[in-house]
Amino acid sequence: MQLRRDPITQSWVNLEDEGEDHVRHKDAPCPLCPGQVNESAQTLYEYPGGGSIWQVRVTPHLHPIYRIEGDPQRRAEGIYDKMRSLGAHEIVVENPDHDVQLSRLSDENVAQVLRAYLARMNDLKRDRRFRYVTVSRNHGATAGGEFDHPHSEVTATPFIPRRVGYELRSSSRYFAMKERCLICDIAEQEISQNIRIVEQLGRFVAFCPFAARVPYETWLLSARHHCAFEEDLTAWDDQLQFARLLKSVLKRLEAVSPTYHLVLHSSPNVGAKFQKSDIWRTLADDYHWHVEILPVIPSKARSYALKEVYYNSLLPEAAAETLRNV
Ligand SMILES: [Zn+2]
Ligand SMILES: [Zn+2]
Ligand SMILES: [Zn+2]
Repeated sequence: MQLRRDPITQSWVNLEDEGEDHVRHKDAPCPLCPGQVNESAQTLYEYPGGGSIWQVRVTPHLHPIYRIEGDPQRRAEGIYDKMRSLGAHEIVVENPDHDVQLSRLSDENVAQVLRAYLARMNDLKRDRRFRYVTVSRNHGATAGGEFDHPHSEVTATPFIPRRVGYELRSSSRYFAMKERCLICDIAEQEISQNIRIVEQLGRFVAFCPFAARVPYETWLLSARHHCAFEEDLTAWDDQLQFARLLKSVLKRLEAVSPTYHLVLHSSPNVGAKFQKSDIWRTLADDYHWHVEILPVIPSKARSYALKEVYYNSLLPEAAAETLRNV
């Protein structure tokens, strides 16, 4: 496994020599169910701890994309850059029951899953080799989920993913111009216009973004500014309220799309090695954490013809209306 940098876009690409296929045999038992293969994996986080039966458990991924040991060993190959696929790749088993999806758990249990995210993100951010830590979740077969068992993944990488890089650059540019946070401004306008809002709960809001890339793309965020999810969502009441909104939005989305990809965008690791501090001078004020959910809906022929540009056949205003009425 190695990482290579695309010299044009500057984004890192994961490359695997053998292209190993980890598709599980239909009849094989689920490795994430209690008592199965994953039970013997190292426990990185568990709730409740102390020997009682776990409700949420985090372990290293069974087939990790990244390896935690060693240094990135950055090397050149002529004009190209490559490095080892150093990083952390963990699996959050969201509940012991194979058939109960996140959206069907109790509010308290979903809040406990969020707590597991927080704990792992904070722990991995203490590792100065990692510039970025995030959580993602694939739901449904075609979203690329490796296991059917309800789970999320935590990854830590020695680089900042490309889309987050775009966000960081536009957020700091916007802040330099206006001394305001871009996403705070977006949230404020969405709330006052109230045409793309899916749901609002206390300080948290879910809406379909103005330039949605796919039908029913939905973002969840706090209308109150904070750059880092893992520092903002520390109080149980906030965790519970965000859990309620997340559950509700997932139920709405599941009614229109059986598969989706969820990703959490939070502040990069400012304590990482070789991180030029002046880049992050206004980071705490200009970046704003959010969750992006991209449903995977069988696309119409046109989106294939225009692969280089997003083609979305559903206006976000109409998508939000459908989701509100679910
Ligand atoms: Zn299972
Ligand atoms: Zn903000
Ligand atoms: Zn984002």
